Amino acid sequence: MSAIRLENLVKRFGDFTALKTMDLDIADGEFMALLGPSGCGKSTTMNMIAGMEDPTSGRILFDGRDMAGVPMGRRGVGFVFQNYAIFTHMTVRQNLAYGPRMHGRPRAEIERRVGAIAELLQLTPLLDRRADRLSVNILQRVAIGRSAILEPAIFLLDEPLSNVDAAFRAVMRTELKHLQRQFRQTMVYVTHDQLEAMTMADRIAVMDHGVLQQVGTPLEVYNNPANVFVARFIGAPGMNLLRGRPAESDRGLVIDLGPLGATPPLPDALAAAVRRNSGDVLYGFRPEQVSLAADGRGLAMPITFVERIGARTVVHLGEGDSGVKVVFENDLSAAIGETMVIVPNAESVRVFDAASGRAIGAVR
Ligand code: ATP
Repeated sequence: MSAIRLENLVKRFGDFTALKTMDLDIADGEFMALLGPSGCGKSTTMNMIAGMEDPTSGRILFDGRDMAGVPMGRRGVGFVFQNYAIFTHMTVRQNLAYGPRMHGRPRAEIERRVGAIAELLQLTPLLDRRADRLSVNILQRVAIGRSAILEPAIFLLDEPLSNVDAAFRAVMRTELKHLQRQFRQTMVYVTHDQLEAMTMADRIAVMDHGVLQQVGTPLEVYNNPANVFVARFIGAPGMNLLRGRPAESDRGLVIDLGPLGATPPLPDALAAAVRRNSGDVLYGFRPEQVSLAADGRGLAMPITFVERIGARTVVHLGEGDSGVKVVFENDLSAAIGETMVIVPNAESVRVFDAASGRAIGAVR
């Protein structure tokens, strides 16, 4: 049992504020990803949970118990870093057994645990290999095993896959999720890679410049980003955002996008919220959530680039601030210089206040 609560957590290094008043509840057994660009304060937050850094102010509670002054070794946390920390002169088996041995576990239990964790992480055939003969991919797997074997109630992973190759990363994403399901630990996973967060986490805490931007399930942050930072950061490519001004039309409320013309009318609930807001807005839609206009009515934009990734086609339309990307899950015929007329799917359109960047309408 280990729920984590961060309460008004602040971290300053001299004059620099790395984390500004973070409040976050992580449920027992939950897989929470801390996601954001480099320097946003993810590792700082993680280090404070681990007990490697003291908060400047605020509290960290494990199951309601204040962790202030509790050293790392007494917090019941397992920690895996970006750079695997393993003993290269030892075999995989010795590395895995190291933690339980230090804790004085009986030999039979150590053997059983090593066998089980090796099986789970597909290390069984490598158990008697020396670590200095293994690839970076395998070493990181051993590092994860070394922490996991202690079955910590809280498992903290800081960019554990950033040094392994892409194919292996995909395998490890699945394995880490299995590992967590099996042990039901509370897992906090730091990453700047939204794909990792989206595929593994139960919920994602999106951070930028030391500020928590939004907490939600992968689908919540994808479908209903709280602000333009989250809208752009989540998704590959991120959400398209076009600046414009709300305008009444005989078909309902539209967004006047200047030279690009007017958008299709907004759905009623969104239109009502946008009417209550004053000033310019950003009209947002996901690259995957568009169709080609059947009747020629839509946003007509010049094709500026076409990327074909297998059967997936990413089409770049327009340029600069009025540029968007659209994704089609087929091998669409599209040539640079042609005009494409697109219609964002009405229900997936999101509108943001241009001045504050905040989503207009309910963020569910
Ligand atoms: P990355 O993925 O690059 O590690 P991050 O989101 O984990 O990014 P942090 O490592 O938490 O970011 O760092 C947040 C900010 O705090 C950065 O600007 C970093 O330079 C600064 N910082 C971190 N540790 C210290 C320190 N000991 N002294 C001064 N500044 C620090």
